[in-house]
Amino acid sequence: VNTFWCETVVGEWVESGVRFEVSDAGVILTREPGPPRPGDVLLGAVLPGAGNAHSHAFHRALRGRTDGAGDFWRWRERMYAVANALEPDTYFALARALFAEMLVAGYTAVGEFHYLHHRPDGTAYPHEFELALVAAAEDVGIRLTLLDTAYLAGGIGQPLAPEQRRFGDGDADGYLERWYSLRERVPSLAAAIHSVRAVPPDDIARMVAGLPGDVPLHVHVSEQPRENADCLAAYGVTPTRLLADLGVLGPRTSAVHATHLTDDDIRLLAGSTVVICPTTEADLGDGVGPARALADAGARIAIGSDQNGVVDPLLELRGLEAHERLGSGLRGRFTPAQLVAAASAAGYGSLGLGSHRLAVGDRFDAIELSTTSVRTVGSDAAQLVLSATASDVERVFVGGVLTARGGVLADGRDPADLLATALGALR
Ligand SMILES: [Zn+2]
Repeated sequence: VNTFWCETVVGEWVESGVRFEVSDAGVILTREPGPPRPGDVLLGAVLPGAGNAHSHAFHRALRGRTDGAGDFWRWRERMYAVANALEPDTYFALARALFAEMLVAGYTAVGEFHYLHHRPDGTAYPHEFELALVAAAEDVGIRLTLLDTAYLAGGIGQPLAPEQRRFGDGDADGYLERWYSLRERVPSLAAAIHSVRAVPPDDIARMVAGLPGDVPLHVHVSEQPRENADCLAAYGVTPTRLLADLGVLGPRTSAVHATHLTDDDIRLLAGSTVVICPTTEADLGDGVGPARALADAGARIAIGSDQNGVVDPLLELRGLEAHERLGSGLRGRFTPAQLVAAASAAGYGSLGLGSHRLAVGDRFDAIELSTTSVRTVGSDAAQLVLSATASDVERVFVGGVLTARGGVLADGRDPADLLATALGALR
């Protein structure tokens, strides 16, 4: 048993002087107010670790290199060029470096939305890319839910383009065969439909029927207006309505982006999680989604780093609230406590990782924030989430184990060095 004493715990409410007993397996056995005792690890302001509900690891290679001009679709061409340059060893190095960057930034779990399955000519690797991601996460100590993704078509009614050949599985049966084989090798395996652009309705229906009913299921929804236009032209309904009619939506499902929605779409998403990726949506010019309206309708709001141009859960939360303020002219659209819940309980729930409120029975996945930095000094503890950035993350614990401290991994490795090596090998 390990014991921790926190000066402040910032969660659904702020509590001062909290002591935790944590089992060797990393689960919280007791949580009680009171003074520290000899032998406790003494911590300052503590929040539950952030769950990153949407990541594409290899997009990290594009950061700072695509900002000249263009739109989403031009950016996508650049992204395909990176995808086609990767091999399992270079992918491992890049993912490990990125997961290290996430960990020191305060993400204690990540859902990797993974569709890079095969060799450039489309022939199969025996799970090599998937196992590279698992090994990368284990190497640095972040929790990983692998969202193994079906990507079958180049657009509605179109075959995969040559630069998309690595993503494909032929059809839903090919996908399911690979998924079940992978399940024997990957402990935290979940599933994803790339989008209604990339998976035809018949295949979506077969995936829903063929996958276990309890695994998390993720899908990109209405990130760009063109996806809505193509879907309406082909099927006469919005992407959200199509997914609802195919049985995709529900408590185990996460809709990613959900930017361009109708009122009917918002109602249909009420029982699902919606993963908002504010820094990516701003970067790619996607638009501002109806996050508050979705939350009011009953959807759970989580966050994702998506293209990993920014790896900072606090900046994602600030972006979520800032976009709402810009759209509505009002402040406090999400309370600081709701923002903490989006990064923690909703993110972990989306990834099938269970309850995550630093309560008894939860894992002790926690981050400590500096309250004395140039950014945070003078802040109310309850509002730290809107003044701090990842630069204020001091110690990071996953399952009660110290995994990062002061911007580097607990074993001293610096994510910047890991990134320099991994990116250098790609260029
Ligand atoms: Zn994405």
